[in-house]
Amino acid sequence: MIHFSQLNIFNKRVLIRLDLNVPIKNNIIQSHARILAALPTIKIALKKNAKVIIMSHLGRPKIEQFNPELSLFPIYQFLKKILKNNTVYFCKDYLNGVHINNGELLVLENVRFNIGEKENKSTLAKKYANLCDIFVMDAFGAAHRIEASTYGVMEFSPISCAGPLLISEIKAITQALKNPNRPMVAVIGGAKISTKFNILNSLVNIADKIIVGGGIANTFIAINNNIGKSLHEPKFIQQAKILTKKNNILIPVDSRVGTYFDNNTPAKIKKINEINNDEEIMDFGDQTIKNMVLILNSAKTILWNGPVGVFEFQNFREGTKILAKTIAKSNAFSIAGGGDTLAVIEMFSIKHKISYISTGGGAFLQFIEKNTLPTIEMLKKITMHKNI
Ligand code: AMP
Repeated sequence: MIHFSQLNIFNKRVLIRLDLNVPIKNNIIQSHARILAALPTIKIALKKNAKVIIMSHLGRPKIEQFNPELSLFPIYQFLKKILKNNTVYFCKDYLNGVHINNGELLVLENVRFNIGEKENKSTLAKKYANLCDIFVMDAFGAAHRIEASTYGVMEFSPISCAGPLLISEIKAITQALKNPNRPMVAVIGGAKISTKFNILNSLVNIADKIIVGGGIANTFIAINNNIGKSLHEPKFIQQAKILTKKNNILIPVDSRVGTYFDNNTPAKIKKINEINNDEEIMDFGDQTIKNMVLILNSAKTILWNGPVGVFEFQNFREGTKILAKTIAKSNAFSIAGGGDTLAVIEMFSIKHKISYISTGGGAFLQFIEKNTLPTIEMLKKITMHKNI
């Protein structure tokens, strides 16, 4: 795999695929985290006097056409403000070629407005490739996607390489997974039950202890208990049962339950065998929190994805709050990733106390599960084919 830093990019048209998929409401960017993570790569390319073109997806347009709510224009405006010493342009119609000078930055409109992007159509991939001399894959958050701007483009561009952010993400996650300092503890919470069960299958063999929360924990509790209206996935109960045989998964012994899914619902702490049909598990109970803290305090490596309860509701925040604060206090190497995990980190202001925060959600999880990603494999394959 060629690294960006190995290439001479002076005077070259450098097309960088970034993950600038940030939350935007009424044209106002709600979190700049992904843009800031992408910024060093842009700055290096500008400093080396390349002709820098960046592209990204934003949101999920229902049809492949312009939608003002999902335009990258606010991101362009933000970059223009930050990169005061460089000329920064924005371009909506770029598929038939663009003009740009050395040391300038061109921000392309949302790639998901282009027909064939999601389906990885080669006609579109060729058009992206024609825009550049060098393609840089630096969108870790989209590195699990086989799409024209992340994957197909590499088949046609003269040279493709891995960008600095992609490389640092791979390094950090690999460090956490291969030869981790032990004990290694993984925390898997949240609501995306089916994706996360696949990860548990890998993690039971890697981690010394696993703490499950959210809908995943509920599916484990449901093996032997009535869980009322709780979020869970019945088709995974059997798999949960098999996973418990390893004896390294912390299953809650008590829970905070409510009778309706609302911010004002009062929380009641109940043992897991006392839950009624009209109740819903929305957080850990106090004994489970104590058990969780004991395990976290013994860890030398912590891998964290997902809240352990409905942290958006004040009465069901305790488990996630203690989880976040315990990880923040820990001396273990901690690595966190996934959309809502970042929201939790922001809520409790612990960003600087986590050793590594991944910009990837789905990509972070898939990398943990498979130890590679499709675009990484592509970067390796083309290096071999082109014999570079
Ligand atoms: P994920 O994207 O998979 O990390 O899921 C995050 C979401 O899971 C958050 O919005 C939480 O409110 C939600 N969540 C966590 N625990 C529960 C629970 N016990 N019941 C319902 N939703 C939950």
